[in-house]
Amino acid sequence: MNPMVTRMPAGLYLVATPIGSARDITLRALDLLASCDVLVAEDTRSLRRLMEIHGVAPGGRPILSYHDHSGEAARARIMADIAAGRSVLYASEAGTPMIADPGFDLVRAVRDAGHEVTSAPGPSAVITALTLAGLPTDRFLFAGFLPSGASQRKSALEALAGVEATLVFYESPKRVAAMLRDASAVLGGQREGALCRELTKKFEEVLRGTLEELAAICAERTLKGEIVVVVGKGRAHATGEEDLREMLRAALETMSVRDAADAVAQATGAKRRSVYQLALSLASEGLG
Ligand code: SAM
Repeated sequence: MNPMVTRMPAGLYLVATPIGSARDITLRALDLLASCDVLVAEDTRSLRRLMEIHGVAPGGRPILSYHDHSGEAARARIMADIAAGRSVLYASEAGTPMIADPGFDLVRAVRDAGHEVTSAPGPSAVITALTLAGLPTDRFLFAGFLPSGASQRKSALEALAGVEATLVFYESPKRVAAMLRDASAVLGGQREGALCRELTKKFEEVLRGTLEELAAICAERTLKGEIVVVVGKGRAHATGEEDLREMLRAALETMSVRDAADAVAQATGAKRRSVYQLALSLASEGLG
C-alpha cells in the first residue's frame, strides 16, 4: 500500500463502479481502491482495468475473485482477512454490488460474524434509467431480469400487472423483443414505457412510447448492448366496463364525445378506441 494512503479500519467495503463511462467513478471509490488491504471483485480483469484507467496501483495487494458460485471457501478467506484486521473492498463487474449482481451471501456472512460492512454508493443502471425514462419515480419496483422461458416470463409479468408503481427490468438484447411483446400483452399495450440502452456510453439511447409501440420497434430493429426497460405505473384493479360507463356519463355532461373518451382513456389506461366506442354509444342513447 502507498505510504501516503490512509489505512482503512477492518471491514467489508462495497464499492459501486461505472456502468459505462469510466469517469463516473466516485472520489470515495478511488480512495478505497487505493487504500483497502485486499481487493475482491466479481471480475478481477475489469477491476484491474478500472484501476489502470484511474492510475491506482495494486501495489502488491491481493486481487481476488468472488462471485455467486465462489462458495464457502472464498467467503472464509475474506472473513479471515477481516478478522485479521484487514479492510476488504468488494466490487461487482459494473454498477452497484448486489443489484442483479453477486455479494448478498458475502454481506450476510460478514455481518453475521459481527464485522463492519459499509457501502460507497455510485452508479447503477436502475437509477440511471429511472432518471431518463420520463416516468413517475415516486414509487418504483425493481424486478431485475425476468425468466427467459416464455411461460415463466408471462407468469412473472402477470404477478406484476396490478402493482401501482413504475416497474424496472434488466433485459438482454437477445430477449428484449419477446419481453416487450409479452409485457404489452400482459401489462397492457397502452401502458407507457421506455427502453434505455447503453447508458453513459457512446451509443446511449432512450426510446419512449407505449409498450405496443416499443414492441413494434423491437420487432423491426435489432437492438444491441445493455438494456433497461421501464414501464409506467399500473393500477391495482383493471377498470371494468361499468366503471368506464359511469366515468363517461359524468364526463359527457360537460365534454364532447372525443374529449370525454380522451379524458377517461387517459385516467384509466383503457384502450382509447374502445372507450371512444363506448362514449359514442352512450351519447347516441342519450347517456344510457
Ligand atoms: N449491478 C449492476 C447495476 O447496479 O446496475 C447491474 C448488473 S446486471 C448483471 C447487468 C444488467 O444491468 C445489464 O444486462 C443491463 O440490463 C443493465 N445495465 C448495466 N449497465 C447498463 C448500461 N450501461 N445501460 C443499460 N443497461 C445497463
